[in-house]
Amino acid sequence: MASKYLALPKGVSEATFDAAVKEFRGVLGETHVLTSAEQLAPYAKVMMPVPEANHTPSAALLATTVEQIQKIVGICNKHKVPIWTISTGKNLGYGSAAPAERGQVVLDLHRMNRILEVDPDLCYALVEPGVTYKQLYDYFKEHNYALWLSVPAPSAIAGPTGNTLDRGVGYTPYGEHFMNACGMEVVLANGEVLRTAMGGLPKSNTWQCFKWGYGPYLDGIFTQSNYGIVTKFGFWLQPAPPVYKPFLIQYQHEEDVVEIVEIMRPLRLSGVIPNSGVIAHALYEAGLKAKRSDYVSGPGSISDEAVRRLAKDHNMGIWNVTAALYGTKEQVDVNWKIVTDAFGKSGKAKFLTQEDVGDDPQFGYRAALMRGGMDLREFNLYNWRGGGGSLWFAPVCQTRGSETLKQMAMAKRILTKYGLDYTGEFIVGMRDMHHILDMLFDRTDPEMTKAAYQCFDELIATFSAEGYGSYRTNTAFMDKVADTYDPIQRSVNRTLKQALDPNGILAPGKSGIRL
Ligand SMILES: Cc1cc2nc3c(=O)[nH]c(=O)nc-3n(C[C@H](O)[C@H](O)[C@H](O)COP(=O)(O)OP(=O)(O)OC[C@H]3O[C@@H](n4cnc5c(N)ncnc54)[C@H](O)[C@@H]3O)c2cc1C
Repeated sequence: MASKYLALPKGVSEATFDAAVKEFRGVLGETHVLTSAEQLAPYAKVMMPVPEANHTPSAALLATTVEQIQKIVGICNKHKVPIWTISTGKNLGYGSAAPAERGQVVLDLHRMNRILEVDPDLCYALVEPGVTYKQLYDYFKEHNYALWLSVPAPSAIAGPTGNTLDRGVGYTPYGEHFMNACGMEVVLANGEVLRTAMGGLPKSNTWQCFKWGYGPYLDGIFTQSNYGIVTKFGFWLQPAPPVYKPFLIQYQHEEDVVEIVEIMRPLRLSGVIPNSGVIAHALYEAGLKAKRSDYVSGPGSISDEAVRRLAKDHNMGIWNVTAALYGTKEQVDVNWKIVTDAFGKSGKAKFLTQEDVGDDPQFGYRAALMRGGMDLREFNLYNWRGGGGSLWFAPVCQTRGSETLKQMAMAKRILTKYGLDYTGEFIVGMRDMHHILDMLFDRTDPEMTKAAYQCFDELIATFSAEGYGSYRTNTAFMDKVADTYDPIQRSVNRTLKQALDPNGILAPGKSGIRL
């Protein structure tokens, strides 16, 4: 007999789920427990090359208080119903708002959106999970606070809690977001509320000032995991600098990436370039200025010759390095000389600043993101091919020139085998870079969707065989990526899961962790 639900949680009968839904409604009210196909549509949409049916939720719960969440976990334990928590739910290309497994109940915290504290002197914020970057951006303006956020490219529509819990990145000097997280409140699976580090001291005023507290540092276990539901999140803000100088450096050959990285590493390590600069391939920026169909007809990957033509037609480099300087005019002037001397030596680099490019969209969106601005133009990636398919492949790479070429050659070879393009960039940390590839495919084309799945699978296998691990992945490939790491890591993760969530009700499958 067909169920009245879109899906049911694994191993849960309809009668048991009826009872759970009734109890959820008792806690949240009728209207905040969603079960109809229409209501659940936003939680069922994915961009991954797998059927939406794999990730269809059974219900969505719109909670607004810690007490409600404590009651919800009580109901879930009683009926063995699994919940998948989202904060602002914009994990696009990593699974969106849909749960990892069919039938999980989405716990959507976007309505829990109070900005609890912003300290303009100590430069920190404490927020609820549903707070968006845009809300904070407006709040700073309204209060005339000279504070900057660090945001991922979806900026306005995403939020600091979900982004940081998935260990996302931004592009300012505070761009490694978890490095700048400070203090969490977490509802545990047994309903207890944990405040991490200094938050454990009743009268402490240093919860958002000192990360480590006393004893083991616990915050890390609540990121990319399923050990708790974060209900308050503290993080640090950058004081707005007096001078901000974004710049773009273009190079015209793929192999130039070696030189770029060798120059950038010492500048990043010494702090001359203080932010996570980006080395973007022309194809990563192409959607801002062109359509794929202008350069490719028929199946197969775009040719190197067409990429060169594209770059020339639209005043782009094959590599486009964006970074920025922050500080007083004197500091920026000195550092700009160091940067131009270093990159200028070989004669291959073309330097461009705001004055040179005017309202060029490529420079414009990068410059906005490097100051934590609200700018959604990176979504033009999806105009390049069209068809709505996207998967982020995100291997970690040493900040070493030779490594970049090796990783790039591996990725290009595999992508070409499946007729896909190298839409890649390196986000430059200090000793590591996130090598980010947006694997774009047409989700309306079943053959290409199948190829995209196989391609992603092969990327994971080939990269891990060379010792290159992903820093993050989408919900369709979490087990596969987890399998590339040491089994002892997985068994420790499982031991923690058994101890903290013995009924396995919190996001089973997240990062490959389940009972
Ligand atoms: C064009 C484009 C560009 C992008 N650029 C970037 C980028 O520059 N940097 C980047 O990092 N990402 C980027 N992304 C990926 C993604 O969109 C962002 O990381 C986004 O911030 C994640 O969505 P969110 O903030 O709404 O988090 P959510 O979707 O709310 O949460 C992300 C995950 O964290 C966990 N989680 C969330 N809330 C809780 C909670 N309260 N308790 C426990 N666990 C929780 C869940 O597993 C959830 O799936 C990009 C995506 C696109 C489409």
